[in-house]
Amino acid sequence: MKSRQPALSLAADAAPEGAPQVRVRVLVEAPQHSGLTGPLDYLAPEALPPGTVLRVPLGRRIVTGVVWDTAAAEGEPAWADDQLKPVVEVLPDLPPLPLIWRQLVKFAATYYQRSLGEMAMMVLPPELRQLDAVQWGRRLKRLTKALAKPPEDSAVPEALPEPTPEQQAVLAALAHPPADAASSTYLLWGSTGSGKTEVYLRQADRALQAGGQVLLMVPEINLTPQLEARVAARFAGRSIVSLHSGLTPAQRLRHWMLAHLGLADIVLGTRLAVFTPMPRLGLVVVDEEHDPSYKQQDGARYSARDLAVYRGQLEKVPVLLGSATPSLETWFNALPQAEGGAGRYQRLTMPSRVGQGSMPRVRRLDLSREPKPRPGQEAPPLAQALLDAIGERVARGEQSLVLLNRRGYAPVLQCSDCGWKSECPQCSAWRVFHKVDRTLRCHHCGLTDRVPRACPHCGNLDIHPVGRGTEKLEEQLAAALPEARVGRIDADVTKLKGALEDKLASVHAGEVDILVGTQMVAKGHDFRRITLVAAVNPDAALFASDFRAAERQFALLLQAAGRAGRDASVAQGSEMWVQTWHPDHPLYSALARYDYESFAKQQLKERESAGLPPYAHLAMLRAEGKTQEAAQGFLEDAARLVEELAAELGGILLYPPVPTAVQRVANIERAQMLIEAGSRPALQRLLSRSTERWLALAHQHRPRGLVRWAVDVDPLAI
Ligand code: ADP
Ligand code: ZN
Ligand code: ZN
Repeated sequence: MKSRQPALSLAADAAPEGAPQVRVRVLVEAPQHSGLTGPLDYLAPEALPPGTVLRVPLGRRIVTGVVWDTAAAEGEPAWADDQLKPVVEVLPDLPPLPLIWRQLVKFAATYYQRSLGEMAMMVLPPELRQLDAVQWGRRLKRLTKALAKPPEDSAVPEALPEPTPEQQAVLAALAHPPADAASSTYLLWGSTGSGKTEVYLRQADRALQAGGQVLLMVPEINLTPQLEARVAARFAGRSIVSLHSGLTPAQRLRHWMLAHLGLADIVLGTRLAVFTPMPRLGLVVVDEEHDPSYKQQDGARYSARDLAVYRGQLEKVPVLLGSATPSLETWFNALPQAEGGAGRYQRLTMPSRVGQGSMPRVRRLDLSREPKPRPGQEAPPLAQALLDAIGERVARGEQSLVLLNRRGYAPVLQCSDCGWKSECPQCSAWRVFHKVDRTLRCHHCGLTDRVPRACPHCGNLDIHPVGRGTEKLEEQLAAALPEARVGRIDADVTKLKGALEDKLASVHAGEVDILVGTQMVAKGHDFRRITLVAAVNPDAALFASDFRAAERQFALLLQAAGRAGRDASVAQGSEMWVQTWHPDHPLYSALARYDYESFAKQQLKERESAGLPPYAHLAMLRAEGKTQEAAQGFLEDAARLVEELAAELGGILLYPPVPTAVQRVANIERAQMLIEAGSRPALQRLLSRSTERWLALAHQHRPRGLVRWAVDVDPLAI
């Protein structure tokens, strides 16, 4: 990495004549494309330890930076002192970011092919990067004042449930790791409702007792409130902070500071929390480790799950990955070598549900045997048998959850005369009809218009919705079961702050008989009175081109099933219905037996023969352009540039560039190129040596219509 002098030099004009000056190397926010990839040199009046947060001039601005190291690496040009600008100020009383933090940032930047400065600044609380020393001082004063206040009358800690035998066995294993253990990363593989959370809490308690801090990670903010309440009840009197994107900037800064100062005992957060400096870290828990939300989908596309494992190794603290349906990567890592796995993690299992709870019986409903509606007659919203089963639940005062992974009223509007469809003018996608506010909305670029009264092409007044989303299903169910109270939870109804909490509370309070929802309600929620879960239209994933689609669908359906029968008093007779055209598909038969293990085995076999992860390692080079040719043209040249290198490294395949699944979004064309390698080191070597070349190449391609490009290491969707 080169060290460069900032564009506009003010040449030490603020330093008093003759004052001794020390060189510091500072990371500032600089995206990869700026070419400023490494730390920049500045002058400070005294030596500043690495990790110090300070303000430095950059061009015409003053920006926040972090002292990285003190001396230029060998082979880097050394700037003469009089060419360097002085540091403006240091943020007072902010302890330097620890070595571990810097190591983690460095690893993430290298592994995910981003600049160090971008990575370092991205993982700091946004507000910290905007405060000058005076503002920061004021913040800190307020924070310390708040801390000086005696803690509020702490609630009496809740009574601890007696661990089940399975929990006991797992806790014993965690307390006595085998001496020859390769690592202290554990996979806790436990059914939904097996009491994994209880294990996290007990293990957290041990870490706290030993004086440690606990990092507890969850996939989505919408799942934090319930867990937050449980953690708060268990650890009353402890300092617990949350970290996720739903906080205000001020809250986020405050929580981060409490963690960094070692004052917070427990940090409960989403993927961004993995970078929180915690001086006494004693345990990392990653709940629902398989969840795709752990992977950042833009900018630095890091996997917080993988970084958590890395961090655990760095800090020599145990990492507990929990799931009922582990990602195949994690499963492979936890599978003993004797069984064909990597044997890297230790696997702990809890197959049974706590208490009398049992998993619902899975019923596959064969759609091909449903009667066709007579001409002029509308088909029932769900197969009649399923509708009847839901009706019975309503009559008994039990709840049902109906899942449909498509929000809106109908995915497309169509003119019955000329065939016009509600295409998005900016994307290669249909605009979705939302009946509540009578809009057509593009779910890719957001373009929203009122629904036209007549066909924009031919003026025909008869334009009708085709297909069905959650809004329509809600309406249909309310019509078919008029005595039922139907509710809906999806990204549309939960846009407003607090709306999701309100909706969930009304479900918990029993004010909803039938809940229609997208995948956001399938995960994690501890619904007590749901006895029937139905997947309305889950078949698409069986034939998707994405090799992870089946894995994701299996996890989702099993999670969804886990929402039913959670309370022993209603567990008997609870059911998971799957409406399908392919009732004998292996995915559904494995689901019907709750047999993750054989599903994983079969999937791993397929992956192995197809040369896919975890047996191969992938990176995706993505490009966006004004035209598809511009995007693909860049990728073709990018491949050509590194072909030789790839051949030299061996075992690397560069696939031809192709348009992405939705190829045009907001008038930008998108294409991608898959890179497949037999080994991770080979892939890393290829990428680290290619990135600079691609940067230069991108420069040449800009005039030809290239807009953006990026590397996605270990991409989730391909
Ligand atoms: P998971 O996280 O594996 O889905 P949870 O930890 O949410 O499961 O546990 C499911 C339910 O069982 C919760 O209501 C929890 O309070 C209860 N539970 C967990 N462990 C015990 C236990 N040892 N004794 C009694 N109830 C328990
Ligand atoms: Zn028309
Ligand atoms: Zn659009």
